[in-house]
Amino acid sequence: MARQFFVGGNFKMNPATREAKKALIKVLNDADIDPSTEVVIAPPHLYLFAILESIRKDIKVSAQNCYCKDAGAFTGEVSPRQLADAEIPYVILGHSERRTLLHESSEFVAQKTRAALDSGLSVILCIGETLQEREAGETAKVCEAQLKPVVKALKEGDWSKIVVAYEPVWAIGTGKVATPQQAQDTHADIRTFLSTAVSPVVASSTRLIYGGSVSAANCKELSDLPDVDGFLVGGASLKPEFVDIINSKR
Ligand code: PEP
Repeated sequence: MARQFFVGGNFKMNPATREAKKALIKVLNDADIDPSTEVVIAPPHLYLFAILESIRKDIKVSAQNCYCKDAGAFTGEVSPRQLADAEIPYVILGHSERRTLLHESSEFVAQKTRAALDSGLSVILCIGETLQEREAGETAKVCEAQLKPVVKALKEGDWSKIVVAYEPVWAIGTGKVATPQQAQDTHADIRTFLSTAVSPVVASSTRLIYGGSVSAANCKELSDLPDVDGFLVGGASLKPEFVDIINSKR
């Protein structure tokens, strides 16, 4: 089954000013972008409305997080229903920075994934191992453990709205990208897991994207791998080279 190439830009808590945000959006609005790639940018919540209005229509907008309830006394949180009502189609869940800094468990990520899907959002679901876990040969086991609660919370039909982002923690923001072999092997392992845990159809149709120090210099080789269906890009999504990464399949 053909899987549309997907490139996401995770702006994290950037840029720091509205002026810089405008400049970033202008670069994307002026760029020549491969129409066969699905492009999604994830700015901080504060900028979502402004960017939704100013970004070209062939680039979609994502939130970087949401809570697992529609409304209520949850100070500082954003609900999936609010995002859907604001016409934000995607949300990133399970990013390693939230798992590590905010102690989000895989069970909590699964609850939020369920709530996001129930509100009609699509989810960019992040998983990945630490350096210690990779060195201990536990990469596949860790990815499976992070996916299992999600598999339990979802029905087979829900998977058409999930993009799995494999992001080794040791590669995020470090300049240390996974080798093509490491990326391909892990993506193939994730697909094998999905095949047995969900179904062969879900395994072959779910997009598995790679994240972790993707740049214009390394994207081409990674994009040619059979089980890499795109990228989640952090630091480089704030630079003009993001356009080269979007166009890496050209
Ligand atoms: C990310 O935060 O999702 C990410 C992949 O970051 P970077 O590209 O900067 O490593």
